[in-house]
Amino acid sequence: MTETFRNYIGGNWVDSVSGETFADLNPADTSDNVGNFQASTAEDARAAIAAAEDARSRWRAMSPPARGEILARAARVIEADLGRIAGELTREEGKTIGEAKGETARAVQIFDYFAGEGRRLGGETAPSEFGRTLLYTIREPLGTVGLITPWNFPVAIPAWKMAPALVSGNTVVIKPASAAPKTTLNIIAALAEAGMPAGVLNYITGSGSAVGNEITGNPVVKGVSFTGSDTVGCGIYSQVTGRGGKVQCEMGGKNPVIVLEDADLDKAVNLSIMGAMWSTGQKCTATSRAIVHKDVVEEFTARAVKSAAAITVGNGLQEGVQVGPSIDETQLNTVLDYIETGKDEGARLLTGGNRLTGPGFDQGWFVEPTVFGDVDPGMRIAQEEIFGPVLAIIAVDDFEEAMKVANASRFGLSAAICTRDITRAMEFVEGIEAGLVHVNSPTVGAEVQVPFGGMKDSSTGTREQGSVAVDFYTQIKTVYLEY
Ligand code: NAP
Ligand code: MG
Repeated sequence: MTETFRNYIGGNWVDSVSGETFADLNPADTSDNVGNFQASTAEDARAAIAAAEDARSRWRAMSPPARGEILARAARVIEADLGRIAGELTREEGKTIGEAKGETARAVQIFDYFAGEGRRLGGETAPSEFGRTLLYTIREPLGTVGLITPWNFPVAIPAWKMAPALVSGNTVVIKPASAAPKTTLNIIAALAEAGMPAGVLNYITGSGSAVGNEITGNPVVKGVSFTGSDTVGCGIYSQVTGRGGKVQCEMGGKNPVIVLEDADLDKAVNLSIMGAMWSTGQKCTATSRAIVHKDVVEEFTARAVKSAAAITVGNGLQEGVQVGPSIDETQLNTVLDYIETGKDEGARLLTGGNRLTGPGFDQGWFVEPTVFGDVDPGMRIAQEEIFGPVLAIIAVDDFEEAMKVANASRFGLSAAICTRDITRAMEFVEGIEAGLVHVNSPTVGAEVQVPFGGMKDSSTGTREQGSVAVDFYTQIKTVYLEY
């Protein structure tokens, strides 16, 4: 029998007032229902917000190091249960078990890192123009904050929002994506087990339009941190700023890798294909454009096609599988539509391009790793986020043209260059319009101790992770103390 999971509000596991649930299907095998989750309403969301408001002054009164200790204990709980959590992540999201374990281990690092921030949440002191005056700043929490997260990193993204929000003294209402609510629930349960006081952290599942919209629209919610598509993000941004709230949105990408004529080609091919195909291309930082110097484009293309065609696609829980399914039928169809668009636009389909069928595939949403050559920078497949295992190869005459093409995008999340030339590498670092910049490393991947986020339409500009993550979740008070 399929288990039914509840919301976590005010320290209790509770049903939605709707009395209804929705299914969380395994994208590798839709006959497998991971669990039924509460189809919550705006009324449930208001109850979660009220619980967070009620806990606010008590949580704020606890010292930051003591708050940090709870996060550190949660890290130990997750670590001890990493295999199960990662397995459930793969089962509901589809990424391979190796990637799921890596992501869960990342969540452990995130809680450990922000546990330490509890001892570093300082302000600054400054000399005063006047004598006998102590001039300094302190950080205060915003109050109740709302976190709205996507399905593609259902452990890491909730963790990197919850940890800085909580350690800096905010109470939280989190709404995970409906396509992957179980993994986030596992993290909530770990935080509860670690001793998070009732009401400080509230978890509620349900649709973006009902639950999400109540969180973003409710004036009690002082800050909203969102990661997801740019359509939804832009709507949330206007709604929250319109009511005077603070908002942070991390959205899509169209991340390029530039391959120059002097690049280590094996390395360039590996990091491009890995960046494009792993996690089924469902990473905001996935590589989707390879911008390659004309002298090496033929060789690069031949090797990239060979490498993509050799990828083993299947159920991510099976050993040897390198790429899992798309998250759902809509996403699969989006990917297949973009592949048709690429062909119609005159790009050359070099490998892949089809839905996978047959035993092991028919019950899931699998698509072949796909590489296009002869892509023009203006084509839709070179401009729009596909969120699937599709790489577009664009040939350029020189470094200057490569930079122009790389920057000719409304997105600016992550970008990479492969070269042995330090001058060009540094010119790339200076000229590229992206929040995350890689030299001889893939566009994907992020370490917890440094800021993460994009430029242009990829982000509203604040940064997550690293010590600056608390900037969004705090407000600064300046104190003039005369003695
Ligand atoms: P999405 O469709 O925008 O959904 C994200 C979250 O917003 C989900 O929890 C969704 O709930 C909720 N939501 C939908 N409509 C809403 C509304 N009107 N009001 C409030 N909340 C609403 O994105 P996704 O499909 O889950 O994720 C894929 C996207 O995320 C891609 O574009 C990817 O690039 C982006 N992403 C960006 C980053 C980054 O850091 N830049 C990282 C990862 C992913 P439901 O699930 O219930 O609809
Ligand atoms: Mg969606």
